[in-house]
Amino acid sequence: MNKSLFTALISAACITLSTSALSAQSSSPFAIAIHGGAGTIEKSRFTPEQNQAYRAKLKEAVETGYKVLEQGGESLDAVTAAINVLENSPYFNAGRGAVYTYDGSHELDASIMDGRDRQAGAVAGVKHIENPINLARLVMEESVHVMLSGQGAEEFAKEQGVPLVENNLFDTENRYKALLKAKEKLDKAKATSKDYQAAHQALPVNYKMGTVGAVALDKNGNLAAGTSTGGMTAKRFGRIGDAPIIGAGTFAENESCAVSATGHGEYFIRYNVAADICARVKYQNKTIAQAGDEVINDVLKPIGGTGGVIIVDNKGNISLPFNTSGMYRASKSNTQATYVAIFDDE
Ligand code: ASP
Repeated sequence: MNKSLFTALISAACITLSTSALSAQSSSPFAIAIHGGAGTIEKSRFTPEQNQAYRAKLKEAVETGYKVLEQGGESLDAVTAAINVLENSPYFNAGRGAVYTYDGSHELDASIMDGRDRQAGAVAGVKHIENPINLARLVMEESVHVMLSGQGAEEFAKEQGVPLVENNLFDTENRYKALLKAKEKLDKAKATSKDYQAAHQALPVNYKMGTVGAVALDKNGNLAAGTSTGGMTAKRFGRIGDAPIIGAGTFAENESCAVSATGHGEYFIRYNVAADICARVKYQNKTIAQAGDEVINDVLKPIGGTGGVIIVDNKGNISLPFNTSGMYRASKSNTQATYVAIFDDE
């Protein structure tokens, strides 16, 4: 074939391909949901200013992630960007604002998962990482492992050029007051010879929780999920919750759904919550609303497993079930305006 005719044909084919790829992208669903923790969130304890400030931060986080998706970016980037906003805010139990261990320091956990191929990365018990979700992502992308903990994770961070920060960067007065109250209750229980586990179990839920997370579907049909936390107030040092455990606190696979959890981590680990929800969608053809409701309300609630999840599926549907009196949450999709809520009646 004449060379210039060949070149013309190839470039016409390329233009047709890229316009069809573009039009597929422009008609594809995309969606994001975020949470800032579930627990006993009492309306009466909120001043109007606090109420507004929490909602504004949730809105900022969900819209930061949404913008990434709207511009054709990847769900992994949307999840990371949204979680960074929440980690950098002192209102939530992740990064700045993380809860204290019984011993008075902060130990952070985080994980991220790519729904395309089940690649995943996690860090557990890190004390000097400003944005643990970013380090979890580096573990996924730059190491051959899925989870790194403590000192090993921080050595890896240094190698990757992530600066280590002082642990007191995460200090906040409110979380410190919560620690003092929790310790008072725990120590009283110890003095009356109840075991630590039972006493910890009996702590009011709002002393303990407030993890952050995000799930997203991008225009290319790829799902991702991420979760970041300081864990639970007055936890033993070395305790690892569900947030960095793939399948428990975080799960994503393109064929079913993406889930990020918040709640009493020990239950979420034992009941493999995030993966169980996606398995019900995949093998039982349940909707995410059915699967989420079953696991949160039928499986966890009767055994005292308090908390909630955010879920998005590969069609852009969103579900945000929880069995506590509130969950900080927000969502937005190409067909749904920004939704921000805290209490269960919203
Ligand atoms: N799930 C977290 C943990 O157990 C706590 C939370 O979600 O608030 O570490």
